[in-house]
Amino acid sequence: MTTKKQTKVTFTPAEQRAARSERIQVRDAEPYGWIAFSEADSRHNYHLFRNPETRRLVCTCADYIYRGEAEPHYECKHISATLKYIARQYLALEYDPQRQYARKAA
Ligand SMILES: [Zn+2]
Repeated sequence: MTTKKQTKVTFTPAEQRAARSERIQVRDAEPYGWIAFSEADSRHNYHLFRNPETRRLVCTCADYIYRGEAEPHYECKHISATLKYIARQYLALEYDPQRQYARKAA
């Protein structure tokens, strides 16, 4: 008798969103902010902005609008993808170890 024990890996909703964000393309928008669009359906794209008060990203998708109401720091898959995009740009173009050190010391 063989008992096959299946290990079922369950992902949290945040992990699922992070995985889906891998398939989202991001580019800079004019005159500011970012555009996120899925490869599967590029007709649906979303505009992302930085909220000047919270200094966090805001997305125009329905998921963000509805879930964001309930969870103040909610991050939809577009925000997740855009954060990675911004981080890569920052590392490539703006990162300055001196400034990082100065900020920490202050
Ligand atoms: Zn979104």
